[in-house]
Amino acid sequence: MATGRLHSIETFGAVDGPGIRTVFFLQGCPARCAYCHNPDTWNPAGGQEITVEEVVRRAKRGRPYYGANGGVTFSGGEPLLQGEFVLEAVRALKREGISSAIDTSGTYFDDMSEKVIDAADMLLLDIKHIDPKKFRELTGREQSPLFRLIEVINRLDKPIWIRQVIVPGFNDDEQYIYSLNEFLRKIRSVKKIELLGYHNMAENKYDRMGLRYRLQGVRPMNRNRLQQLSSLTQIV
Ligand code: SF4
Repeated sequence: MATGRLHSIETFGAVDGPGIRTVFFLQGCPARCAYCHNPDTWNPAGGQEITVEEVVRRAKRGRPYYGANGGVTFSGGEPLLQGEFVLEAVRALKREGISSAIDTSGTYFDDMSEKVIDAADMLLLDIKHIDPKKFRELTGREQSPLFRLIEVINRLDKPIWIRQVIVPGFNDDEQYIYSLNEFLRKIRSVKKIELLGYHNMAENKYDRMGLRYRLQGVRPMNRNRLQQLSSLTQIV
């Protein structure tokens, strides 16, 4: 049976998908987002080992709280980096009647990814940036995995929630939101678009890890402005 590498577990998660959820933050990410809150998830060999049985055991503890919509979310890091493990875990949870969401960054896609998406009940996608150059600048990755992901989501007709971090001076203008709406027309089953305001609370973590924080000096996103921009998002 496949084992995975785990960063941490959050119980009673209320923001990573519908309802109350147990969130497994998996270790390893190929991206290097400038605003990443969890650079300690980057190393695929870090964290601790976890088995599928342990995932199921921990997930079952939350079952009384899941209700009709809750369940498990696999986040990261980038969960698609551990496709074989996540696929087994999602299937094992399904046998227990627990639904799963995959929270992906669209920066990684391999031969296992389609199977994982097919087995999961829904996806959360952090869209990063719609412009290829800015995407690369922000994440250090190309957009090609994102487009492979979109093609598969459409083919499998998987429900998806879109999340977009808004960073002052980078994508905090109306025009960006209009372009984002247009871009999201490419994805058939978008159920929700959520704009998240950039904050700089991770900066100390970078210092402690001896990493350079690329957004030094960028102020946290103003809440009113974020609300204004959120009111412009559109699900087609
Ligand atoms: S994809 Fe997520 S975990 Fe990876 S670097 Fe970006 S924000 Fe961090």
